[in-house]
Amino acid sequence: MDDMQVSRRSALIQGAAPFRMLFEYFDTSGYQERRHEPGVLDLTFGDPHEMQMPAYVEALQDATVPRDELWFAYKQSERPAQEAAAESLRRVVPLDWTADNLRMTTGGFGAITVAMKAVADPGDEVVFTLPPWFLYEGLALEAGLVAVKVPALRPSFDLDLDGISAAITPRTRVVIVNTPNNPSGRIYPASLLAALAELLEDASRRIGHRIWLISDEPYNRIVFDGATLRSPAEFYPWTLLCYSYGKTLLAPGQRIGYIAVPPGLPGAEVLMEAIDTLQIAGGWLFPNAVLQHALPRLEELSLDVPALQAKRDRMVSALRELGYRVAVPEGTFYLWPESPVPDDEAFTRVLADLGVLVLPGRLFETPGWFRICLTATMETIEQSLPRFAEAIRRATS
Ligand code: PLP
Repeated sequence: MDDMQVSRRSALIQGAAPFRMLFEYFDTSGYQERRHEPGVLDLTFGDPHEMQMPAYVEALQDATVPRDELWFAYKQSERPAQEAAAESLRRVVPLDWTADNLRMTTGGFGAITVAMKAVADPGDEVVFTLPPWFLYEGLALEAGLVAVKVPALRPSFDLDLDGISAAITPRTRVVIVNTPNNPSGRIYPASLLAALAELLEDASRRIGHRIWLISDEPYNRIVFDGATLRSPAEFYPWTLLCYSYGKTLLAPGQRIGYIAVPPGLPGAEVLMEAIDTLQIAGGWLFPNAVLQHALPRLEELSLDVPALQAKRDRMVSALRELGYRVAVPEGTFYLWPESPVPDDEAFTRVLADLGVLVLPGRLFETPGWFRICLTATMETIEQSLPRFAEAIRRATS
């Protein structure tokens, strides 16, 4: 690479705090080597730990068999995929979604990057809450946008509406909300989302242009205890709802998701055109043909949410008995406990020495906490519990 290329790449990595910290973490923690060591329990990222469900594999295999000469032609958003996605979205978020409201993307990453670029111009500000998903800042930076971060309230990890209001400036163009939240597991209540909508309406009027909401909802089907998820799109029409199938199907390497624009949004035609154009200009940000053909069948599948809830319950009650402070997540597949000592990195190193890999809160710009991922098997979770017991003993003695 010549100097220009190197500097652009390193500007991205250096500029986006979680990006940089993740790279440093990979370099310094030995994570990449340790995660495959025998006896090491990997509770870090939302990757599968078991063989994929046979119905998923069969759906993909079936979709590889061409039905016509255009089966593997260039694809934008395939109508049957859009229709299947709209139908299921109507069940999750009770608005009158149709295929026309949706565009298929390369997972949540693709949806968020296109959503940002569709509504914001370089130099505009994008507000999001800490702890965030790692890539908001990287995607914002790559789009030429400026990340503005507002810490969540403690200990509820709800949105800090006063903080969001104070962070809004004449350059604000986007606010990102993620419910159910990674990493806190919070589902934001309807009252909070209604108040946020009112805040954004008032602020848009004050600054003289529309503030858009990006509702990042890849976990909107992974909710526990029969909870009802409310989407920000129900409260604020100027919302771009971003979804990924990588979580529900526990297949994040298969890149498919969508952007949905609420029915009845004024000016939606122009926005959809912008999205279509950006998906092409961004480097053909459409899921590949096989995934789109398979989607109507994939829509019928899901990871086992009751089994995930059982893992959550086991882990929460065991950790609490051991003296950890941890809230019960209402959705997602993460736990977000408080570190028993203020230095979350030191604590996660103690855990790593005992062969349990988790992510320190510092990587989420929220020191004092850490993240456990529950996509590991129940057996792995059981094996980790004596090590969590030893870690809190070592760290606090
Ligand atoms: N948003 C959140 C909150 C996430 O946790 C993730 C993945 O971890 C994404 C977006 C991106 O999803 P995908 O990798 O399926 O595109």
